[in-house]
Amino acid sequence: MEKCQVCDCKNYTNYDENNGTILVECSECGFIWLNPLPIQEDIEKLYNNAYQNVSSSYFSKVRKKMNRSKRRSKFLEKFILKKNNIKFLDIGSNGGFMVEAARLRGHEATGIEIDPYSIKYARQHYTKNVFFEGNLEAYYDKNSEKKFDIIYCSEVIEHLVDINKFIMLIKKLLDTNGIVFLTTPDIKHWRRPKDLRKWDAYCPPDHCLYFNNKSLSKLLTKFELKIIKKMIAFKPGIKIIAKHI
Ligand SMILES: [Zn+2]
Repeated sequence: MEKCQVCDCKNYTNYDENNGTILVECSECGFIWLNPLPIQEDIEKLYNNAYQNVSSSYFSKVRKKMNRSKRRSKFLEKFILKKNNIKFLDIGSNGGFMVEAARLRGHEATGIEIDPYSIKYARQHYTKNVFFEGNLEAYYDKNSEKKFDIIYCSEVIEHLVDINKFIMLIKKLLDTNGIVFLTTPDIKHWRRPKDLRKWDAYCPPDHCLYFNNKSLSKLLTKFELKIIKKMIAFKPGIKIIAKHI
């Protein structure tokens, strides 16, 4: 990558080097990325394998996940004006817990997920929702007329190669008064281990984009989205709610 995807700045310096794996940091906004970036198809393959390995333990804590999802869904409703007919989209819906929780709250819920194993699980267990297998771009190609009141996207953007395209699609799918809930690891968080390698969110090439508050906010502003709520995170991560400017 010749320049920073977030602010277009061409000045960047090495941030970390580990056995030939290089992370670089934008001198302007502090955005950090794996350089060179992997190819999208390779990431999706890697994703599949990773899920197959952790799947049994991942899906074992279903009740806990479902309770957390219900609390989150209720919390997010506070930020929209609509009381009925709420359209909910989860990008990276995993086993479909958040989608099902939203449906139980009365929402019309859709999940998008690239991992076939997770999609299969979600479709088998939560039959009353729509689950789309593929990435956001593929979903948008077939559903460009859709608008959502709540777009939920947790721990996804750090995996992407083209962040601009992704945020642009979120912008297009977000209803006029809708909200987007985003979470991602925060590489500049005060509680991140000093030794980067000891941080569980340091896992290139799976995680290839590393945000901080400044770079994420700059990225959203570029697409005329503004942060309306920042949640305090004790785990080194960013959790925000944004809407159209
Ligand atoms: Zn930058």
